[in-house]
Amino acid sequence: MRVYVAGNITVDETWSVTDIPAKGASVHGYPRSLDIGGKGANQAILLSRCGIETYLIAATGHDSNGKWIRQQLMNEPVTLLPTQPMTALSDTSLILHSADGDNAIITRTTAADSLDINTLTRHLARARPGDLLVQQGNFSPEKTYALFNEAKSRGLITVFNPSPVQAGFSACWPLVDIAVVNQHEAQQLPPGAVHTLVVTHGSAGAWLIQGDRRTFSPAQPAHAVDTTGAGDTFLAVMLASALLRGGDVDTLALTHASQAAALTVSRPGTLQAFPTAEELAALLQTGGESALT
Ligand code: ATP
Repeated sequence: MRVYVAGNITVDETWSVTDIPAKGASVHGYPRSLDIGGKGANQAILLSRCGIETYLIAATGHDSNGKWIRQQLMNEPVTLLPTQPMTALSDTSLILHSADGDNAIITRTTAADSLDINTLTRHLARARPGDLLVQQGNFSPEKTYALFNEAKSRGLITVFNPSPVQAGFSACWPLVDIAVVNQHEAQQLPPGAVHTLVVTHGSAGAWLIQGDRRTFSPAQPAHAVDTTGAGDTFLAVMLASALLRGGDVDTLALTHASQAAALTVSRPGTLQAFPTAEELAALLQTGGESALT
């Protein structure tokens, strides 16, 4: 069982500000961290740390950021495809982190845009029926749709986390098996009749909806210092929990996911905030009782 995550990888520069600036405002802030980020990379790294064979299909640039990203990824059990840089500059994100623990993010997708559908499809060549393809919202709706279409024709299970939301994404729903959205995304882009729908509600918890069955799974209480990557941690650990037990996404998968996300929100940064492989192994072998304090 392999998971292919097609998406973006960025250098995340996080600044602390008192509050997220309104239109026209000028505010003071200070640099807080420099880290690997991007929803594609976050989810792939976490899946691989859970022990899942994971391939990240994401573009890195030919600049110093790209070199740094590729070096950092060598410390992770994930395989990056393509291994060579694109001719574009690497993608970067500017994260504004406010005193109340919330954030606002500006992401550049120049490198991600330079990955064309033929290249993406080529990197799926070794995928087998039953493997997973995970996509987020950083490719154009046309490219996202085309890759899901290719995945379905190869018998893959498709997972969509349409963040950031783009209007054209609604066409993808008929090709999606598992959808993970936060409460705002659920309103902006109401998911179609997917087999498994998970709607996250921040510090409250998450709903699991499968046909007529709706189950609420409360969040693990945490002292939140930085919520960046909470959703990515949740999605990756939820999938890994289900895959490692050979089954469907269930309430235990959501419990494991919320325990892992609670660790992420309790630490600053992106990659440096994520649970380690050791923490994830301890958490995933429990039956949902808290393995970590
Ligand atoms: P982000 O964009 O910040 O990465 P998201 O908007 O995609 O996240 P959320 O619904 O905010 O997703 O959070 C996903 C999950 O993370 C929640 O279901 C919950 O389990 C956990 N989580 C988020 N915020 C908190 C918090 N303050 N305390 C504990 N758990 C949290």
